[in-house]
Amino acid sequence: MKLILLGAPGAGKGTVAKLLTAIDGSVQISTGDILRGAVQAGTDLGKEAEGFMKRGDLVPDSLIMGIMEKRLQEPDCEKGFLLDGFPRTIPQAEALKELLAKLNITLDMAVDIQVPRDVILDRLCTRRTCENPECQAIYNVKSNPPQKEGICDKCGSRVIQREDETEEAISHRLATYNEKTAPLIGFYEKEGLLFSVEALNSDAVVNGVKEKLGLS
Ligand code: AMP
Repeated sequence: MKLILLGAPGAGKGTVAKLLTAIDGSVQISTGDILRGAVQAGTDLGKEAEGFMKRGDLVPDSLIMGIMEKRLQEPDCEKGFLLDGFPRTIPQAEALKELLAKLNITLDMAVDIQVPRDVILDRLCTRRTCENPECQAIYNVKSNPPQKEGICDKCGSRVIQREDETEEAISHRLATYNEKTAPLIGFYEKEGLLFSVEALNSDAVVNGVKEKLGLS
């Protein structure tokens, strides 16, 4: 499957992507994970992106398009991909449209995961992430804590609160989402690719997507 996952930070795009990859071997491409990995590795890309990310601002479109142009041509994308956190602006969506046409790739749909704001705020404030850039496993202090406090079950690294998941950065990220990313819903509706799901749990979203794609 070749999907875009839309939705505010904390809507569950990452979790849904992981569940969907298990169905047909598509790969999850998370620009946030790629950027956090670059920041931790101290690469030029990481150095450029770090300040924007800490403040909860979007990284410039040109940096993101550079990442995506390379990533979409890697061989593991042949089975399909789930774009998680990209595109985030109308210019990114337009550039993606051009890039896909150039690469002769057709999208199946853009899935908009709709979750109420109070649920999102609660989820993000209680979310914790493995600091190992290769792992980046997600936990939740209330609903899914690691077995040993502060230690990742999967790789044994520290589990931390992301710098952009303080209350202040979160409200800034949500405002940025409403201003810059929410307009993509209209963009993909016009393209005839939009599939909106109102769902509080990721399994319900996955079932909706499977049904729409005729996979269930
Ligand atoms: P995420 O994990 O998707 O919430 O992304 C974390 C941060 O990475 C965002 O707050 C942005 O600073 C940056 N980022 C991730 N994806 C993009 C994108 N497509 N365009 C611009 N900035 C991005």
